[in-house]
Amino acid sequence: MVQSYKKNYKIAESYDTIIIGSGMGSLTAATFLAKQGQKVLILERHYTAGGFTHIFKRKGYEWDVGIHYVGSMEKETSILKKIFDYITEEKLKWADMGEVYDRIVIGDKTYDFVKGVGNWTEKMIGYFPGEEQAIRKYLDLVFDCSKTSRNFFIEKTFSPLMSKLFGWFFRKSYLKYSRKSTYDVLKGLTDNEELIKVLCGQYGDYGLTPKKSSFAMHASLVRHYFSGGFFPVGGSSQIVETIAPVLHRLGSAILISAEVSEVIIEKNTAVGVKMKDGKEFRAKNIISNAGLFTTYNSLLPKETFQQHNLGEHLKQVKHSVAHACLYIGLDGNPDELKLPKANYWIYPDKLSHDECVDNYLKDQEQPFPVVYVSFPAAKDPDWPNRYPGKSTVDIITLVPYETFAEWDGKRWKKRGEDYEALKEKIAQRLLKALYEKEPQLEGKVAYYELSSALTTKHFVNYEKGELYGLDHTSERFEQKFLRPQTAIKNFYLTGQDVATAGVGGAAFAGVLTASVVTGKNMMKEVL
Ligand SMILES: Cc1cc2nc3c(=O)[nH]c(=O)nc-3n(C[C@H](O)[C@H](O)[C@H](O)COP(=O)(O)OP(=O)(O)OC[C@H]3O[C@@H](n4cnc5c(N)ncnc54)[C@H](O)[C@@H]3O)c2cc1C
Repeated sequence: MVQSYKKNYKIAESYDTIIIGSGMGSLTAATFLAKQGQKVLILERHYTAGGFTHIFKRKGYEWDVGIHYVGSMEKETSILKKIFDYITEEKLKWADMGEVYDRIVIGDKTYDFVKGVGNWTEKMIGYFPGEEQAIRKYLDLVFDCSKTSRNFFIEKTFSPLMSKLFGWFFRKSYLKYSRKSTYDVLKGLTDNEELIKVLCGQYGDYGLTPKKSSFAMHASLVRHYFSGGFFPVGGSSQIVETIAPVLHRLGSAILISAEVSEVIIEKNTAVGVKMKDGKEFRAKNIISNAGLFTTYNSLLPKETFQQHNLGEHLKQVKHSVAHACLYIGLDGNPDELKLPKANYWIYPDKLSHDECVDNYLKDQEQPFPVVYVSFPAAKDPDWPNRYPGKSTVDIITLVPYETFAEWDGKRWKKRGEDYEALKEKIAQRLLKALYEKEPQLEGKVAYYELSSALTTKHFVNYEKGELYGLDHTSERFEQKFLRPQTAIKNFYLTGQDVATAGVGGAAFAGVLTASVVTGKNMMKEVL
């Protein structure tokens, strides 16, 4: 169903909409548009589809790159679940991770985040008995902020005139929260720094420490997982696998190894795309899922960039952090190896999250400010059928783009011995962290491979190998240009930079973009 641009692909003669990139935002927008009768062509530069939902295989193992768990999938009434059921025609199934989804480890103490807001609250009060009032007030703020997000994101579908007249009204309640840092909000509730550190124990899910992140992002992430963590049955490749046949049936197509080099703009109207090999495809609408920086800096013609002063937009936002991920293959199935389903978030003792990151950025010999460990083989009930006698682990930490910048421009797998040596050093530190938590895994590692910011750049085309697109600072949420509609006629944006990072955020962005392109409220289709 997914075809390669390099081989004998068969596609229709004309398309209503072309989407650059095949991430979650693209797949969602495409399916909504196709179900409205449009013919959509998705062009993906990577040799596999799905953006960060793609998987890769090596030495008989398979790893998911950008999905370790997704929240809000608990019941049919969840909007995100409805969106996934709609675009996959209920073919994609989600496995529940069980009672504990995240395990926050600070020094020798462990704090479990458990499923269900009531259980979660009880657990937190059990850990911090003197802080009940602060914890309950915190929950009120998280829920209230999440409620205000609805109008904020709906406003992104407004026409420029509607937005000018009424936009402020729809945005104002959310901005009250997004303008505050996570730390400032929490500090207003408690002086207990250990509690603040625990409550921000999932900050790696949006990539910014409490003093730098917007409380709105923190609140939506925390709320997202209150109903537990879920993993796609069969692995994250099942997202594309279940959506591609729907698109195919509706006359739409996904082409991989299809790199777009430029959006063709005539009289300030997007009319098509030029491929890297010079070939052109034309369509009425062009949507970019390639991220704001890549779209502005690499895909729009220079004259368009200047005409709309897009450099000013880019000054208002920042690239999010980069990461390194150690992909591990183990001998033994998840049960034999006693792999947990819950993720570990391992932090140094004593210092705050912000201090840990600052120290590490000054001197990378300092402890990693965060080590995230995920056990995908244990989360996927179908894993033992697909890979009997094997298991996988992913370990992620912060390693900035600058650490690897000197090798940028060198070819993948040909970056030289010093690059490999640096990666090996990081890999050994991460393995040590794993063995400290799960000592039974020592001697079971059959394969490992570390990705860097350059890997992310190479495969997913993010300029600085950024993990989550744009940083989730307070300033980000002020920017009205982060919306589907652009100043160029028939040219639209979708994906994580339009809404927020996360598979859910990107999928919502896809719904928003499809709504703007069709002029109809696509949410009604699922509700
Ligand atoms: C390591 C990691 C772990 C994560 N874990 C989770 C998690 O557990 N849960 C969760 O909900 N979220 C997680 N995320 C975030 C989530 O994966 C992303 O926010 C989301 O998938 C982004 O979707 P998107 O639609 O913005 O597109 P992206 O996935 O960013 O895809 C953009 C696509 O555009 C393509 N492209 C770029 N330039 C061109 C071009 N010129 N021509 C053609 N194609 C082009 C790229 O190759 C890419 O495929 C994680 C992300 C990472 C990196």
